[in-house]
Amino acid sequence: MNQNLYSLLSAHFPKSPAAPCMILPDGRVWTYGDIERASARMANLIAALGLRPGDRVAAQVEKTPEALVLYLACLRAGMVFLPLNPAYQRHELEYFLGDATPGLFVCRPPMRALADELALVAGVPHVLELDDDGRGSLITAATPQPDGFSTVQRDATDLAAILYTSGTTGRSKGAMLSHGNLAHNAEILHAYWHFQPGDVLLHMLPTFHVHGLFVACHTTLLNGSAMFFEPKFDAARAVKLMPESTVFMGVPTYYVRLLLEPAFGRETCRNIRLFVSGSAPLLKETFDEFKTRSGHTILERYGMTEGGMFTSNPYDGERRGGTVGHPLPGTAIRIVGADGTAVRTGIVGSIQVKGDNVFVGYWGMPEKTREEFTADGFFKTGDMGSWDEAFYITISGRSKDLVITGGLNVYPKEIEELIDAMPGVVESAVIGLPHPDFGEAVSAVVVRQKNPAGAALTEAAIISAIKGQLANFKVPKWVYLVDQLPRNAMGKVQKNILRQHYSPMPSQ
Ligand code: AMP
Repeated sequence: MNQNLYSLLSAHFPKSPAAPCMILPDGRVWTYGDIERASARMANLIAALGLRPGDRVAAQVEKTPEALVLYLACLRAGMVFLPLNPAYQRHELEYFLGDATPGLFVCRPPMRALADELALVAGVPHVLELDDDGRGSLITAATPQPDGFSTVQRDATDLAAILYTSGTTGRSKGAMLSHGNLAHNAEILHAYWHFQPGDVLLHMLPTFHVHGLFVACHTTLLNGSAMFFEPKFDAARAVKLMPESTVFMGVPTYYVRLLLEPAFGRETCRNIRLFVSGSAPLLKETFDEFKTRSGHTILERYGMTEGGMFTSNPYDGERRGGTVGHPLPGTAIRIVGADGTAVRTGIVGSIQVKGDNVFVGYWGMPEKTREEFTADGFFKTGDMGSWDEAFYITISGRSKDLVITGGLNVYPKEIEELIDAMPGVVESAVIGLPHPDFGEAVSAVVVRQKNPAGAALTEAAIISAIKGQLANFKVPKWVYLVDQLPRNAMGKVQKNILRQHYSPMPSQ
């Protein structure tokens, strides 16, 4: 049996090739027949360029149907797809091309000169273009190719994609994902979230990341159903399309922004059966407010580039705000203390995972890969978390974000939750900053509301409010008031940027 992920997906495509797959903002529709033929043409082109199964194809392009088709063509031709954030510049590109040595680099036209220069140095033989409207030399070259292609035979362990982690410390690492990894996670999520005939997904996530490319697209393709394929998230546009949609997937910021839309309400969500959130923590406050406004309980899940999704709140059972739910079927999770043994309920430890979805390793980094796996094959996620009495998991943050002050561990989330609950606060990020006595000092970066409560809030007031509630060593020594927190494309607060900005020695 061919274990190529494309074979699995296409086996579930609708019988009628005229069935819609992607519905575009201008009303144009890509049918399942269209994507089969277009991906065949592109797969033929890739083969005609002389690339062979196992070669990498890097793509730094905007989200378009053609970009998704390029991914599917790579699967079909047995290539290893390497999506790159369009925001990356020279320094990052230089590293990725040099590290992954792709046989083909597909870039946006404005990047062409740089792409040629870097490709020459990295020994990348082919560069083609795909513009933000889905045109360019990639399409011109693919158009005359035959629109039939026999999907290349792949084993479950063969690589399908390399996704570079955001790399907030040290060099970004290429997580190698196999056809089997991706197929396993796609099938589990499809079943766990009850995908059903007639579903319509509102797709507003970027497609260079696991959430938008794998979680959203694989579940839809495996379901043979349609998705509104929007170039990016736009709250007003979401309110417009939502009444025709049944599933929405977003990062927490999307939900925050939806709540700011006056037109958003129960009527908007009348056909939605599932709201999924992930990639960053969803504040309990947002979870609650969303429920009141829309009547829907957001399903929060947790995962990462190195394995897709690991946990999910239940579809049918209770969805607990502030938690990421239970381990998904086929994923084993354990939470361990510093000595490597399992922690008790309610105690924060390091999260480790094992399962068919867990990645193969880091590209070209066998040492690093070994370090990140335990002797019995569990992957050390780098996340801290705890179980509750009903086996729901709560994430407390990345272990590298843990603040160690005077030798004592402080989990930023505990303090952030208290600050966020204060009148006049929008949100906060707690970080450790170098301190001569304590090693690190607990420090809070706080965004205030633009109202009288926000205006009245001072650094000293925040510190004194926390003082009454937590042990002294957890009380922020320094508080910074800012207009907004730095976030990456997936809505994650970039604490590394905050640490850099306020180090080495805060001025207060
Ligand atoms: P990425 O590899 O970019 O998908 O980032 C994965 C990381 O995002 C995880 O290791 C977590 O730290 C974080 N993350 C993902 N989902 C959640 C969630 N629901 N709650 C808290 N953190 C999350």
